[in-house]
Amino acid sequence: MPGARRLFLLSAASLLTRVPARTARRKRLIVLVDGFGPDYLAKSEMPNLKRMAAAGSFKTGQGVIPSVTNVNNASLVTGSFPAEHGITSNFFYDPRSGQSVQMESAAFLLRPTVFERAAAVGITSALVTAKDKVRTLLSRGAAVAVSAENPPREWIERVGPRPDMYSAAANYWALRAARRLLRDPRFGLVYLSTTDYMMHTYAPEEAPSLEHLHTLDRLLGEIVDDQPDLELYLTADHGMNAKTEAVDLARALAAQGLAAEAAPIIRDKHVVHHQNLGGACYVYLRRRDEAAKARDLLRSLAGVEEVYDNQEAARRFRLRADRIGDLLALGAKHTAFGALPAERETVRIRSHGSKHEAAVPMLVYGRKVDWPRYAWNLDLTRYLDWEAQA
Ligand SMILES: [Zn+2]
Repeated sequence: MPGARRLFLLSAASLLTRVPARTARRKRLIVLVDGFGPDYLAKSEMPNLKRMAAAGSFKTGQGVIPSVTNVNNASLVTGSFPAEHGITSNFFYDPRSGQSVQMESAAFLLRPTVFERAAAVGITSALVTAKDKVRTLLSRGAAVAVSAENPPREWIERVGPRPDMYSAAANYWALRAARRLLRDPRFGLVYLSTTDYMMHTYAPEEAPSLEHLHTLDRLLGEIVDDQPDLELYLTADHGMNAKTEAVDLARALAAQGLAAEAAPIIRDKHVVHHQNLGGACYVYLRRRDEAAKARDLLRSLAGVEEVYDNQEAARRFRLRADRIGDLLALGAKHTAFGALPAERETVRIRSHGSKHEAAVPMLVYGRKVDWPRYAWNLDLTRYLDWEAQA
């Protein structure tokens, strides 16, 4: 019903009044804390989260490669791997047209969302996010979808003015909005996704990061205090590391006579976060028959840790072969890839995308689950049961 959906979004002022009046039997909150690597949890004072980890099920699990937001957020929203849901990057390069597009449209998402699965059994759900691109990409099926970046007037009145996206306030806004939704008896499922601006900007031990995560923990504690029967599922999309060297893989290939487009997977419009430099890169070759030569050349470069051809990358990381180019390169811990004025540069950024940012905390609180079989962040939704609420 694309027509009805559009109408729904246009009349933002009446979003909540259109949600059917029924009372959810059970409350579920799924939280993706963007960029929340295990080192951030370890170094921060987060008493509520640590109490829930001790009382519930907790482990360090795995995120999907490439370790970027859209890929992992789509995996968690659909409970599936990129080979199934189709989101393989923040950014999609189409070799036929030579055009690059942001993966921000729901048309890219090939699997049902948790919101659609909830609706099918009569559960009303909502998405709250800091970044608006998460709303446009992943909210299909949600009765209400709001972002801190672009909040409807109704939500500004409820939660507060639009926060600065380049501050911790964006996440606080999203948590307060999630709290409001969970207090509404109609909502049985709320999916909350934050932004990683603070992690891109500060290391785990720096004061602004400590303050950010302590406040996030306090707001989460308020939600749990409101909802004694809440089921909480919390994880991250990726971690974060300091990157001290950047490599332009297209330039390195060109220097050896190999024409290629190197599409850094992290690229999006929030350039302030990471200058479009990430720990993984898809390489599209002008000539496919040069793949083996290009692979060997990239493998010989300092800072390049692993290089796979299309089929091997798709198989190993459960990616969709027609959306990943000819080669996938993964960086060393402190190396990032991107377009540069020279082949190699010294940089001082914090970023992600490689295997070194793929470890993530995983928590289930308020529900007993078969914990040993949970390994991936996406398992939190893959193994959700969907009994009817009607
Ligand atoms: Zn992220």
